[in-house]
Amino acid sequence: MGVIRKALRLRSRLALASILAVSVLGGLFSETEASAQETEWATTELADGVFQFSYGAHNTLFVVTDDGVVAFDPISDDAARILAQEIRAVAPGVPLLAIVYSHHHADHASGAGVLRAIFGGRTLIIGHENGLAPLLEAANPSLPPPDLTFSGRLTLRPGGREVRLVYLGPSHTASMIVGLIPDASIAFAVDFVANDRVGYRDLGSHQFREFFLALEALDTLEFETIAFGHGPVGDRGAVKRQIAYYGDLRDAVQQALDAGWSEDEAAERISLDEYASWGGYAEWFALNVRGLYRWLASER
Ligand SMILES: [Zn+2]
Repeated sequence: MGVIRKALRLRSRLALASILAVSVLGGLFSETEASAQETEWATTELADGVFQFSYGAHNTLFVVTDDGVVAFDPISDDAARILAQEIRAVAPGVPLLAIVYSHHHADHASGAGVLRAIFGGRTLIIGHENGLAPLLEAANPSLPPPDLTFSGRLTLRPGGREVRLVYLGPSHTASMIVGLIPDASIAFAVDFVANDRVGYRDLGSHQFREFFLALEALDTLEFETIAFGHGPVGDRGAVKRQIAYYGDLRDAVQQALDAGWSEDEAAERISLDEYASWGGYAEWFALNVRGLYRWLASER
């Protein structure tokens, strides 16, 4: 495992133009102004032919085979342009066979139109059937609806490898799937689970009852290493710690409800110190409490 390519790049031509405008109008611009326009990216080989591409706070995965490449979420139009360079750098001359949406949210799935066009326009876009309607409705050219949808499991077999797409039921969205690369024992999961990080804000899109089941189901899949849509790569222990965190959070909020606390009181008074070192705890833990509170209160 090692970082094979890593660089700072300007976010877009527009960003470049705005920096140049600052330099022309205001004289020399400071390093701070320049760095605010940059997005850091990196490509890391997790296993033979399995690469994590990180762009800012987002991660995706691509799998190289003899017949071509299968890529997950392109992240954004700008990220997709760099992702295309990175795919070509490690797999020159091979086609991009498929783009797989982890789920239909634009901050992960955008860029598929750009990525497909760079590779000649014939790449198959695959996603869960529950993502189709919202994407048709959004009519976002950066985020084309999938050409192929599935409901339970779909196994791709490009170039003698397998890429398994597994639906664990609704979680963060009803369209969320998990990727498995069995010959590398790697899984890829986005937004409903991460490595020692609390959930994002108030978990606003979660379907909580099913989310808890999906976390348990993830732990039954066969993998040793798991990459996430945000944050560092982990192992099965990371999944088990997430199950423990959300279980502890649910229990703490349930106790607050049973004691008659309001949502504000719960958000203010509940703490789970054993997770205080986790990513996002300071910013989002109280919001996680609010999300769980609203769900548990609605279930009473
Ligand atoms: Zn999402």
